[in-house]
Amino acid sequence: MSPSNKILEVWLKEYNISYLKNVKLSSLSWLKAGGINEIMIFPQNLNECELVTKFFLDHNINYYPVGNLSNIIFRDGNFVTPLINMRKMRQIIYDFNGDNILLELESGLSITKLSNEMKRNSITGFEGLVGIPGTIGGGVTMNASSYNSSLCQYLTRILVIDEKGNKLSINKRELNLSWRYSELQKRNYLIVKAFFSIPKKNVIDKDTIVKTQLSIQNHRTKFQEKGLPNLGSLFATKDLYRDLSKVNLRFKLIYYFSKIINLIIRRFFKNKILLFRKILVQIYIKLLKIDKDSDFSLSEKTINCLINKGSNSGDHAIRIVKSIQKKIGNHSRLENIIIDHLK
Ligand SMILES: Cc1cc2nc3c(=O)[nH]c(=O)nc-3n(C[C@H](O)[C@H](O)[C@H](O)COP(=O)(O)OP(=O)(O)OC[C@H]3O[C@@H](n4cnc5c(N)ncnc54)[C@H](O)[C@@H]3O)c2cc1C
Repeated sequence: MSPSNKILEVWLKEYNISYLKNVKLSSLSWLKAGGINEIMIFPQNLNECELVTKFFLDHNINYYPVGNLSNIIFRDGNFVTPLINMRKMRQIIYDFNGDNILLELESGLSITKLSNEMKRNSITGFEGLVGIPGTIGGGVTMNASSYNSSLCQYLTRILVIDEKGNKLSINKRELNLSWRYSELQKRNYLIVKAFFSIPKKNVIDKDTIVKTQLSIQNHRTKFQEKGLPNLGSLFATKDLYRDLSKVNLRFKLIYYFSKIINLIIRRFFKNKILLFRKILVQIYIKLLKIDKDSDFSLSEKTINCLINKGSNSGDHAIRIVKSIQKKIGNHSRLENIIIDHLK
C-alpha cells in the first residue's frame, strides 16, 4: 500500500470509519472489469463525509466518489486514489405536511429502491426508473432517466462537499441538466444528499403505478441486455444508429434500409423483431470492425450497449470503447465514464 494510504488507514481506524483494502473493482463494477483499489471508504453520515474530505484536503490527497459503479469503466492495475463509496448512506426522509411532498434522500440510496418506495406510497412519476442500478448521487450526476421518468424531474437542490471542503447547496437550475448530462460531471464534488418536491396530485391509485412499473420491467427484460455484464447505454443518445448515419454513406444507407425493414417487421412479423435486431447488430459489429472473438462486444439487442463476454480487463474494454468513439467522432457523446487517468 502507498505511504499516504497507510497514514489514511491509521486515521480511518482512529475515527472508526468503514473502509476496505485492495478492493477488486471487477467484482463491484457492473461491467465486471477493472483493477484494484487500494482503499475504498464507506462514510455512514454527513459528519463522516466532512471528516474524510477534510482529511484529504489537509493531506493534499485526491479522491474519487462512486455510487454503484454502474456507469464507470476502470482501467486495470492498482488505484492508489481512494474511492469514496456512498452505498452505506441510503436514508429517506419524507415530509407530507406542506402543499408538496418533500423528500430528503441520502446519495447512496438505490434509484430502483426509490422507484419502489414511491410505488409503496402511491406517488407517480418514478415508475420508469425501476431497473436503473445506480444510486441517487450517480443518477443526479448522470441525469438518469428512463421510460418517461427522469430522476431530476422533481429535484430541487443537492447538498455537496466541494474540493475545498465546503458544504454547498446547489439548486437544480445550476446543474445545467441535459440528456444524461449535469454540470457535476465537470466537478469533483461529493454529493451527500438530494432534495425533491413532488406535487400532491402525483398521489394516485396504487394499482396503476404497479401495472406501469411491471410493464416497464417486462419491456426492459425483453429489449435491454440482461444476460451479460454491461453498463446500460454506452453513448448518451436516443438513437445511436441515427448518429452513426451521419458518419459516412455506408452507415447512412444501412440506417435507412434498416428503418424500412423495421417498419415491415413491426407491421407483419412482430414476433421476429428481436431476431431482426440481432442481425442488425451483427452488421454494425462488422462495420465498426469489432473483432467477433473479442471479450467485449455489443449487445445483441442494441449497438448502444457494451457487453462483457468473460474478461476482467478494464483496459481491453476501454480500448474497444475508444475505437468505437473514434469512429463516431463528435456525432455522439460517450455516456459511460472511463477512469484511466486516476493514479
Ligand atoms: C443494466 C443497466 C441498466 C441501466 N439503465 C439505465 C437507464 O435506463 N437510464 C439511465 O439513465 N442510466 C442507466 N444505466 C446507467 C447507470 O445506472 C446510471 O448512469 C446511474 O445513474 C449511475 O449511478 P451509479 O451510482 O452507479 O454511479 P457510478 O457509476 O458509480 O458513477 C457515475 C458517475 O457519478 C459520480 N458519482 C456517483 N456517486 C456520486 C456521489 N455521491 N457524489 C459525487 N459524484 C458521484 C461518479 O464519480 C461518476 O462520475 C444503466 C446501467 C446498467 C448497468
